[in-house]
Amino acid sequence: MDTAEIQGFLASFEERLAPVEKASGETYWALATTGTEEASREVVRTGKEYNALFSDQDEFERVKGWYEGREALESRILRRRLEILYRTFAGRQGDEATLTRIEELEAEVNSVYNNHRGRVGGEEKSENELRGILRSSDDAALRQEAWEASKSVGRPVEETVRELACLRNKLARDAGYPNHRVRALDLQEIEVEVLDRLMNDLEATTRVPFEELRGEIDEHLRRRFETERVMPWHLSDPFFQSCTHEIAAVGRSDGGPRADADRYFEGKDLRALTRETYDGMGLEVRDVLARSDLYERPGKSQHAFCIPIGRDYPYDVRVLANAEPDAYWADTMLHEFGHAVYDKHINPSLPYLLRSVAHTSTTEAIALMMGALASDPAWLSSVAGVSEEVLEAERDYLHRSTRADKLVFVRWSIVMYRFEAALYEDPDRGDLNELWWHLVEDLQLQERPSGRDEPDWAAKIHVAVAPIYYHNYVLGHLTAAQLRHHLEERVASKPFFQSETAGRYLQEAIFGPGAREGWEETILHATGEKLDPGYFAESLR
Ligand SMILES: [Zn+2]
Repeated sequence: MDTAEIQGFLASFEERLAPVEKASGETYWALATTGTEEASREVVRTGKEYNALFSDQDEFERVKGWYEGREALESRILRRRLEILYRTFAGRQGDEATLTRIEELEAEVNSVYNNHRGRVGGEEKSENELRGILRSSDDAALRQEAWEASKSVGRPVEETVRELACLRNKLARDAGYPNHRVRALDLQEIEVEVLDRLMNDLEATTRVPFEELRGEIDEHLRRRFETERVMPWHLSDPFFQSCTHEIAAVGRSDGGPRADADRYFEGKDLRALTRETYDGMGLEVRDVLARSDLYERPGKSQHAFCIPIGRDYPYDVRVLANAEPDAYWADTMLHEFGHAVYDKHINPSLPYLLRSVAHTSTTEAIALMMGALASDPAWLSSVAGVSEEVLEAERDYLHRSTRADKLVFVRWSIVMYRFEAALYEDPDRGDLNELWWHLVEDLQLQERPSGRDEPDWAAKIHVAVAPIYYHNYVLGHLTAAQLRHHLEERVASKPFFQSETAGRYLQEAIFGPGAREGWEETILHATGEKLDPGYFAESLR
């Protein structure tokens, strides 16, 4: 193979890619912060431009040829650039019409999710408002209405989500894969069998502890709402992704004051808490804070994310959030800024294609490790300024709460994982509503409202626009547990968030190297061991 030819091609391709990637970052940001028709059209336009970069068949064949012969290349860096470019190309292959249609439909559903408001008592409510009702209201009828409203976006997007799944499958089959899921995992450098086994093992190891936890929660909810049957609207999270509010109240349903984590954050400035947290590790976030859009506003995306705009140094990294001074948003802010510090510390002298995170699960690991601080007694005391007196009384609760929340999240992730596996096997199957509820009943032990036959699965935005993604959160949790253990036992010898040494270690071992290595090697090199789910299992004890 002609190394100089490959080098030349990569360099010129990176030059073409850079401005288009930057423009699509800008337009995506504009859409998320304004929700306008014009912004939506711009996203479609830049999406097409981006896809066009990868549409030349001859170029793809050349890249594929080099990729297949890459073992002969001496330079590891060159090999890695080829691997990344090949996978990016492969992920964009397909007939023009299908690719364009997918872009359009994704933009369309995104704007539905952004602009849809469920109705309660005839009034439109934002997701934050619905979440607020489910968190605090004692009125079961109002809760039911809020829960149903939180699912009401399912119907207007259902058909589009199905169509998107069919179109993604078409692209996958044209590329020789059985369906989109198998293709997506392959392009994420994950073996389907390995991941299936890991998820099945997690299901098995979490079943009994989850049953016990669910029993406790149900007992509390039956008393609180004076009901025999615990329905999904009795829970504080619309999908039962989290249970911190339930754990806060378990055992205190005698009417005594609730140890609600939200009150740690009442009147607190989450920007300041975020800044102080990262300052503690010697990681600068002021530049990111200054570019970010952090508070709720009409027309704006109701979710939260971090996005690097292009890859020019100094990096332009931004966070979108709808922050309110409560536990959920404290966790989310720390989480998104975890992504941000990763993005902004990637070694700028790396070649363009390697100036990126090693893997989605790796950046999720950092984000999850940081977000978890919002319920960490040591962080609450030293950074959030919660008094020792309060913490002393609540240490045990915080420990239970953190453990319970991880359990609940893993069970919920398995619902998503199995649902998507079935969806991509046959997006046209007529019983998706049924299948969804079957999984929710089996894995989350949640009784289904009698006669409910609604596309509740389509109310989850990931199913529509971030398909085959959820396992990255699970891998992220496993990685985070292992990494935190490594940082505290072998690097910092104290809580990692109080250690500039830990911050430097993260920069050197994970952030700096960017995408030089895949996710498995990154974990191995950063912690000295391959991914070991044992650390996560340990954290559930
Ligand atoms: Zn994340």
